[in-house]
Order: sequence, then C-alpha cells, then structure tokens
Amino acid sequence: MKILIVEDEAEIVRFLTLELQHEGYFVSSCMDGRTGLEKALSGDFDLLLLDVMLPELNGMEVLRRLRKESAVPVILVTARDAVMEKVNGLDMGANDYITKPFHIEELLARIRMVLRTTETASSASPEGNLSVGDLVLTTSSRQVTRAGEMIELTKTQYDLLEYLLRNRDIVLTRDQILSHVWGYAYAGNSNVVDVYVRYVRNRIHDSDESRIIETVRGIGYVLRDKTRKE
Ligand code: CA
Repeated sequence: MKILIVEDEAEIVRFLTLELQHEGYFVSSCMDGRTGLEKALSGDFDLLLLDVMLPELNGMEVLRRLRKESAVPVILVTARDAVMEKVNGLDMGANDYITKPFHIEELLARIRMVLRTTETASSASPEGNLSVGDLVLTTSSRQVTRAGEMIELTKTQYDLLEYLLRNRDIVLTRDQILSHVWGYAYAGNSNVVDVYVRYVRNRIHDSDESRIIETVRGIGYVLRDKTRKE
C-alpha cells in the first residue's frame, strides 16, 4: 500500500513517514498543494493524507480538483475546531478527516478503515451481499435476513448496520458513526448512536452470549465476526 503525505510542516512529515513505514506502508511526501495534486493524479497511490493549510494550493482546492478525475481515498488533516473544513471536506469527497494534534494510533486506525472500506466497496460481490454468521445484508435491495428470516429495519437502522458490517472488526467511534450514518449535522449528539444500536440489536436478535455488535466503553462500537477464521 502506497501513501502520499501532502503536508508543509517538515517535522510532521518526518514523523508520519517513519511511523507509516514502520507499519509497512510505502510512503512518499510533498510539501505544497500543487505538487501534491500532480502526484495524486499519477494514480500511484492507494491513499492520501492531505493537510488543509498548504502553500500553492490549499488542501480543499487539491481535493476539489482531484475528485474531478480520481476516487483515490483521501484523509483530510484539519486544524482543531475547523468545523467548516470538515463539513466542506466531506462534501467534496474526503473519505475521512483527522484533527491536529492527533495520536498516531488514531490515524493508523483511520487509514486501515478507509483502505478497508474502499477495498470492500470495490470487491463487493455482484449481488452485493454482506454477511456475518447467519446475518445477511443484500445491499442492492437493502434486505436483511438472519438465519433465513426477514428482518425489518428503518432506513437509518439499516445504514447503521451496513456501516458496522462494512467495517467489521474495526472499532468505530460514536463521532465516526454519526458523521457516516446521520451526517455531520448531528455532530455532538452522539446519544442517538446508542439509541439506534439498541434498536438494531433488538431487531437482529443480537443477544448477550453471541453478541456481534460489541460496545467499546468510552469509544463506540465494533461489529465482530466471530465465525470467521483468519
Ligand atoms: Ca499545514
């Protein structure tokens, strides 16, 4: 996997390069938006870490131009409290964002999740089925069955379940779930996530002994595929 870092702070570039190489990624970097866009359009990269505040072309403009020609996954690196940047970034097709200063573990988790989500999307079976154990989602018709029995879900319940399933074994924060399922307008109101997880658990009969949607205290939720062997 090749990652392009577009970031104008040399210290951050150095740190990220070392950390990402340590994780086994191939890393390339550049320090202004114009070069970043050029490199990103080369098609040589699997993911971009794109800083917003950049010389030449800012990150938003890089993203806007990039999206006209390329669907390469992008994680935006935004300044603290730059709410509009996040909103605009997601609108413009960023796959995720992370706020400075961030912990490297959080960034690594987001990179894995974005790579996994885009991989799943591109390798989905023609019928578009997603499954864990005896739970099956037919994404084309948004139908859900468990052990062959049809389960009725509302649109939001379905979106939540599909999002968890597409990111199986990855811990998702309440904020991530909110912004992907409800949109950023709900930011800060993460109780709604807990309420809907409860609905979904009830609907899919996710009982204590064999629970697939696990609560990660203080963070969020993860859907675990306990039947799958790796
Ligand atoms: Ca910067």
